[in-house]
Amino acid sequence: MNHQPFEEWLLNDKNLTSTEKRDLNSHLRICTHCTALSATGLALRSANVIAPAAGFSVRFQQRLAAQKIAERRKKLWGMFVLTLSGLGLLGWFTAPFFYTFITSPVEWITVIIGYFLFAITSLHALTEVLAVFVRVAPGFIPPYAWMVLVSALAGFGLLWIISIWRFSNRAPRGVSA
Ligand SMILES: [Zn+2]
Repeated sequence: MNHQPFEEWLLNDKNLTSTEKRDLNSHLRICTHCTALSATGLALRSANVIAPAAGFSVRFQQRLAAQKIAERRKKLWGMFVLTLSGLGLLGWFTAPFFYTFITSPVEWITVIIGYFLFAITSLHALTEVLAVFVRVAPGFIPPYAWMVLVSALAGFGLLWIISIWRFSNRAPRGVSA
């Protein structure tokens, strides 16, 4: 069967004259191929006609903006809670020191000076020990092991100083109480 020019009319969505329309309709009645084509064209056209509901894009953008704001607010809240808990923890840890400082500042200052003197003498002793080590060690310890040893010693020294400071710090507080 010859589908021209009907097929072309349907494919190109041609504006038909009344005579052409009549010819097409009579062809469609006998041709399933062109009927299917015409139905598809109609379906596509009706699909094109369906536009998004009025204000759809506006609503979409509004929802997007609201979501962004909510996300930002959530982030801000997270940061706020984190900062607050951090400050709270810091306050909880430092409160006893502040308290003792306020109740007995002279004693506290004495303790601080004592600690610094102790730290300086400890560091002096430590450096002397290290100096002896440095003089002796290179002969039988490879450089990288030596570096590890020095850093470990420094760490232990720091821990030692801190623990002794804590211990000595407890004594005047017990006396003043
Ligand atoms: Zn046909």
